[in-house]
Amino acid sequence: MKKIFTSQDITLVNFYKSILEDNGIHAVVKNYYLTSGAGDIPANECIPELWIINDEKLDEARELLSAGQAAPWQCECGERIGGQFVQCWKCARLRDNTK
Ligand SMILES: [Zn+2]
Repeated sequence: MKKIFTSQDITLVNFYKSILEDNGIHAVVKNYYLTSGAGDIPANECIPELWIINDEKLDEARELLSAGQAAPWQCECGERIGGQFVQCWKCARLRDNTK
């Protein structure tokens, strides 16, 4: 198991998990259930973490995530969308992953 990503934004963590799983890399989210009722646990131990099961996939997983983070794409309507989004906020068209 290797930790590949952490963020307080559980939506983003789950999104990255889906990117990995779409590419055949099994991933799990840790600390998911601690985020709401943190109680006495220090906040920095409650940040959701994304882990991959197979260590050998680490490089591949990092590549997938950095591509997802960094590369913006252009929608058919002409709007430029950040790489972390799968849907155009202007016209609601979904990203075409074949391009
Ligand atoms: Zn659009």
